[in-house]
Amino acid sequence: MTPRELEALPCAGGEKKFRAAQIFSWIARGAVSFDEMDNLPLSLRKKLESAYRLRSVSVSETLRGADGTVKLRLGLDDGAAIEAVLLKARETGARGDEDGGRFTACLSTQAGCPAGCVFCKTGSLGFLRNLSAAEIVEQFLVLNSVSKSGVSHVVVMGMGEPLLNLEALGKALGIIIHPEGIGLSKRRITVSTSGIESGIYALAEKGPLTELAVSLTTAREDLRRRLMPFAGLAGLEGLKKALKAWQQNRGRRVTLETVLLGGINTTADDAEALVRFTRGLKTAINVIPWNPVEGLLFEGKALRAPERAEIDGFRARLEAAGLTVTRRYRRGQGVAGACGQLGVT
Ligand code: SAH
Ligand code: SF4
Repeated sequence: MTPRELEALPCAGGEKKFRAAQIFSWIARGAVSFDEMDNLPLSLRKKLESAYRLRSVSVSETLRGADGTVKLRLGLDDGAAIEAVLLKARETGARGDEDGGRFTACLSTQAGCPAGCVFCKTGSLGFLRNLSAAEIVEQFLVLNSVSKSGVSHVVVMGMGEPLLNLEALGKALGIIIHPEGIGLSKRRITVSTSGIESGIYALAEKGPLTELAVSLTTAREDLRRRLMPFAGLAGLEGLKKALKAWQQNRGRRVTLETVLLGGINTTADDAEALVRFTRGLKTAINVIPWNPVEGLLFEGKALRAPERAEIDGFRARLEAAGLTVTRRYRRGQGVAGACGQLGVT
């Protein structure tokens, strides 16, 4: 709930407005029981306790990787399950690809995903349902409580397509950035989409006003359609127009993510098409070597991770054309908590 919704709680009727702010702040600090809220009168705590609960998700499994990654399996009220991941950055590398001291929460927005990208485990599960704002905020709170120094960044890159659940996402991020609560800067939040055109326009007009990443995968139209077959995705021309509109309103760079699939989208043609796609946009390119997921096929053939030479060659072509390229490390592979490996089966 937002502070305003808390003010309207019937059981807090007659209570002063500052009570809502106190409750909001307790929740942001990770309170798991009303009893902890010791600046509230006992009678109010009791009333709240009998009518409301502070958590709807429960942690069913905690997996810790050697690289500091923590993957949580979370059970939802209706028996559905999702995953949320805490990523710890390494110290800044020579190329500046990762910042030290960061704890990034990777949040899910749907149980499953309707987009069905052929390279993604979540996509292979199909779609169950949208998550509520509470279920999104709770992922943050639980990850915040397991990280040593608290979560410093959020990426909405877990299970699901965020722009197909914009209302809950907007509410959840509004709560996460609220200055009376967690107060995370919107500059430290990145929403990643597979390219839902109407959603990008909605972000440009109404927000949430976060950073934006788009999973381009390839700028070869025909190949992109085969790898990301979801009918709700914009064609490349429409996508670029939407990104221009977003950029015009927000004045920020767009990150283009491309998951590199060995032997499929790392060719000179792919690099050239990507360079062309970026013309007229302010972009940063994020190359993500494909994280293996067993059993995923593309047109009957098993997918494979790119070889080192494919990654380096692709990156070099982009850099030669003057693009800014970062490579995302394979954080979380040890706990199957890396990009595209999320999915409770
Ligand atoms: N649905 C949103 C956000 C979640 S997916 C989106 O698609 O943007 C987050 C990122 O993981 C996407 O960029 C996607 O391309 C990438 N990804 C999916 N499967 C992957 C895999 N097996 N290995 C590496 N990256 C993968
Ligand atoms: Fe869904 Fe993103 Fe996976 Fe595609 S890559 S199936 S949009 S979660």
